[in-house]
Amino acid sequence: MALAETMLPSGGAQDPGDAAAPSRSTATCWEGGCSAPGFVRCDYVDGEGQPCRTRWCAGHSAAVGERRYCRRHATTVVALGAKAGDPRALPAVGHRGASLVSWVFTEGHAALSAAVGANLRAGEVVFEDRAVNVSRTPEGSRRWEQGWRIGDRTGLVRKVALRVDECDDAMLSLVHGDRVVARGVPPWITRRRRGESAPGATDASDRQRFYAFLAGFVREALSEPHER
Ligand SMILES: [Zn+2]
Ligand SMILES: [Zn+2]
Repeated sequence: MALAETMLPSGGAQDPGDAAAPSRSTATCWEGGCSAPGFVRCDYVDGEGQPCRTRWCAGHSAAVGERRYCRRHATTVVALGAKAGDPRALPAVGHRGASLVSWVFTEGHAALSAAVGANLRAGEVVFEDRAVNVSRTPEGSRRWEQGWRIGDRTGLVRKVALRVDECDDAMLSLVHGDRVVARGVPPWITRRRRGESAPGATDASDRQRFYAFLAGFVREALSEPHER
């Protein structure tokens, strides 16, 4: 998590999900507005053997162990933890999956974890996922998830998680157990798709509203009576 935070661009305004800019010269860094030489080639290779191939300067790339990556893929491999060694866990080169889940989990953590803790019952304890998990739908497509499990001395009772499905890497779902209770495209992705930008203060308040929106559904889901 500390690493993801250090990868925030200076303004802290962008997740690394869209760091791979449109095709540019291989001689310079691919970060918009950066003219430094692109000495670093991203080392990410997805589960299908497809390499990332983007090039970055030292400041716009990130090291994870002995490898260097673009920011999206640095976040991806950090988010997956030990699972990053398993090709079946790796999203396709152009897919935000693990990176977006990890980003929202980290940046929205204060609001979301407070919501998870708001309605605990006597004897319940929260276990937080330390890494992004990968699972498969019954149809076989993948999804990346990170969240909270609530247990008591009889075992695990409930679960809430952030999820991104393989079929749509801009859509973030909030799941309670196996049920999707909220879905939304994060405001910074919507804005970038439209080619818009926003002043830092507007961006920050949109983000806080998005996390508050998710936190509201977490609170509501966990306040429901549940069956044992
Ligand atoms: Zn650069
Ligand atoms: Zn990359």
